[in-house]
Amino acid sequence: MIRITGLNKSFRDNHVLRGVDLQVNRGEVVVILGPSGSGKSTLLRCINYLETFDQGEIRIDNEPIGRQVVGGKVREMPQKELNRMRREVGMVFQSFNLFPHKSVIQNITMAPVSLLGLSREEADRLALDLLRKVGLEEKAYERPSSLSGGQKQRVAIARALAMKPKVLLFDEPTSALDPMTVGEVLQVMRTLAQEGMTMVVVTHEMGFAREVADKVVVMNGGVIIEEDRPENIFTNPSHPQTRLFLRQVL
Ligand code: ADP
Ligand code: MG
Repeated sequence: MIRITGLNKSFRDNHVLRGVDLQVNRGEVVVILGPSGSGKSTLLRCINYLETFDQGEIRIDNEPIGRQVVGGKVREMPQKELNRMRREVGMVFQSFNLFPHKSVIQNITMAPVSLLGLSREEADRLALDLLRKVGLEEKAYERPSSLSGGQKQRVAIARALAMKPKVLLFDEPTSALDPMTVGEVLQVMRTLAQEGMTMVVVTHEMGFAREVADKVVVMNGGVIIEEDRPENIFTNPSHPQTRLFLRQVL
């Protein structure tokens, strides 16, 4: 579903991604671990081309996103095609990014109405179904400001799902939450995983990684230093930096 090859990315003289290769199969949950500054967010943002990159390629369902190198020449993707591909790659951020002046249901229906051409009624029905799925149907007509962090994040997940993405990217979705509400968000993510959603998740929730991930990827200094099934990563990590990292977070 996602194939990343030779990805390199710098911010000025800061070489942040230094040759990342990663494959995510359909229906898989891949958890990315690693210390702060190791390039996890940048990698996720490259996957839906929120960040450009300098070298390498990212294919989604075998279609290169953003840019393609053909015969040594870089070909930028037309904006329209890029937008179409981006709709297939949902993203959930640490900071929710909900629109504060819109109701919960409006937050969810805006993109499906404007980008997928759903009618108001279709979009409302879809939104209510998704809110039911994340346990928040009764909050449909409230403003985000009246919700807890965990509730806001569940709305953000419903909003991402409303675009019927092929894959969902999560960047530390529970890091900004009150510890009391972390579990409810992880539960929604667990359910999505069981339903077969393809997911790439940056998180420090080791319990989630252990239970839900099909594959754990450890980043350090802009490279993937280790990738394996969670049981191997957690019981028998092979890279010293993985051991160091796990000692710090467990
Ligand atoms: P992580 O998510 O693993 O903490 P990031 O991908 O956020 O790591 O950051 C990796 C490096 O890239 C850091 O050195 C960070 O300062 C730098 N960086 C990230 N985003 C930007 C940006 N928009 N402009 C300049 N530098 C950035
Ligand atoms: Mg980050």
